[in-house]
Amino acid sequence: MGILLTSVDNIACQKAIDIWHHETKRVFGSQFQIQLFDKNEGVFDGFTDKVLNGSFARMQIYYSNDVVPNICEPYLAITLAEYPQIDVNDFTHEVAHMILGLRGYQVVRHPIEKKIATIISSLSQHAAVYDLQQHLFGVDSDVLYTTSKFREKLCRINLSANAVCPQDKVSEMEVSLVIADSLYSPFSKYAKTLTLLKERQPRIYLIVSDALDVLQNNDMLTIEGSRSFCSDILRQLKLGPNWTFGNTFDETRRIMSEVKELPAPSAK
Ligand SMILES: [Zn+2]
Repeated sequence: MGILLTSVDNIACQKAIDIWHHETKRVFGSQFQIQLFDKNEGVFDGFTDKVLNGSFARMQIYYSNDVVPNICEPYLAITLAEYPQIDVNDFTHEVAHMILGLRGYQVVRHPIEKKIATIISSLSQHAAVYDLQQHLFGVDSDVLYTTSKFREKLCRINLSANAVCPQDKVSEMEVSLVIADSLYSPFSKYAKTLTLLKERQPRIYLIVSDALDVLQNNDMLTIEGSRSFCSDILRQLKLGPNWTFGNTFDETRRIMSEVKELPAPSAK
């Protein structure tokens, strides 16, 4: 069982928690508390009776009756790589994604291309995520700058080492979108990385350039812009049919309507 997060020392993290509580109350009528878990620890969901994979999702809603006996309530589970230490950038970044979901930002889904769907959905929110981190939570811009530089550097190291060598079209697309995401930040000056990419991985370079163009052609700070980015990029990169739009909290809404009827654990 994780740690129930009540308050933290860092002002930006605390602000993120307060807004999360406020927004869940506004949308669902009750505050969703936050619990911290070790990345390697499974999170047991009392509603679905499944162990949610901590290493896959850094943040997810789960249902627990461990905290309040006999009552199955929704919590936000945050899995930490350096449990129980909270990384200010990672923490506020993930909470920002969740808050955008509460505010109506959408995600794209596909029955097979789940990884590409996740990358595009994240990318479609990142401008707004950075904006919330910087202007709403007040995350120190040095923290954001350092993280952005680190991601771009990692990108270049991978290119230099020739580690980026996707074997098929799907991996090529995934790698390209991850690179576009690493380069897309208000703090990134990515000309050098693009030049390197053009020399070493011309096919990936084309996809990355396309993705960056689509990002620049949409107002990524609005819900409409984020949605239109998703439609545009799916078309531009010819990602085929069967894509749908949804919201991070669709499942939560469905469960919330049933959870009240859940029997007490002793009656199971
Ligand atoms: Zn993200």
